[in-house]
Amino acid sequence: MTHIAVLGSTNMDLVTYVAKAPQRGETVTGREFRTIPGGKGANQAVAAAHAGADVTLIGAVGVDSFGPQLRSALEHSGVDTDHLRTTEGPSGTAHIVVDDEGGNAIVVIPGANGTVDHLAPGDEGLITTADALLLQLEIPLAAVVAGAEAARRHGVRTLLTPSPAQPLPSQLLASIDLLVPNEYEAAALTGTPDPREAATALLDLVPEVVVTLGAAGSLYAARGAAPLTVPAPRVSAVDSTGAGDTFVGTLAVALAEGRPMPEALAWASAAAALSVQRIGATSSMPYRSEIDAEAS
Ligand code: ATP
Repeated sequence: MTHIAVLGSTNMDLVTYVAKAPQRGETVTGREFRTIPGGKGANQAVAAAHAGADVTLIGAVGVDSFGPQLRSALEHSGVDTDHLRTTEGPSGTAHIVVDDEGGNAIVVIPGANGTVDHLAPGDEGLITTADALLLQLEIPLAAVVAGAEAARRHGVRTLLTPSPAQPLPSQLLASIDLLVPNEYEAAALTGTPDPREAATALLDLVPEVVVTLGAAGSLYAARGAAPLTVPAPRVSAVDSTGAGDTFVGTLAVALAEGRPMPEALAWASAAAALSVQRIGATSSMPYRSEIDAEAS
């Protein structure tokens, strides 16, 4: 079975559903509130597990009531939590407002994720036996760099979601195989709002790039090859939370299985399109049989 290692955040998503998000100074009455396990690391881990891989998440939860809930939700989704530490203090939380058009606004408080600033004993051994390592930027950069370098030393493919957007040190980029920004992150990293120009500029930093474009699909670029535009299935979106993580987690599984990039991108697009039709992040991630049905 394909083994995916994920090094990243675990949050409890505190989600408010409202017709229109409040402006500064405004108070509105929302429709509903839910607590849903999330965090980009956990989300990508669950997406990959649902897509059929053997997945281990390296990260941390806190000693608050969310910690055990987050751990058991991951285990319930089939994610191995042996490398998920429990640290003093609160778990990470994400405060999310979802509006009637399926758009969202998010504030993330790192909590326990902030303690993941190094690889613990055993983490490197796990990474080096994986078929791919998934990375994001919701834990301290030092650990992301350490994870990427461990993977690089052992020839393990690395995929980085550069979120939240921030300048990326060359030390990190040197160990990244595939960068997967959304269009805003691509613009922030390159200073150009045009995704095609941004993707080309990013190829100076990493060998392969996928820029995700929401309902417009995605754009793949690789050094020495013509860019590939991948359409997204036309669906009625109700909540786009976790669409990007579903896309990356699923893409990693397909690539680790040795599928060609165009096929892997189509499969990931099918999975993400399914996820936006459902509420929540991990709760919206489709299983392998559903993805196969959507992609066929
Ligand atoms: P999020 O932060 O909401 O998880 P993101 O900004 O990281 O998402 P997006 O570019 O919005 O990432 O979406 C990722 C992928 O999900 C897209 O490339 C596309 O394949 C799919 N997707 C997103 N929105 C839609 C939609 N409305 N209809 C179909 N597919 C979608």
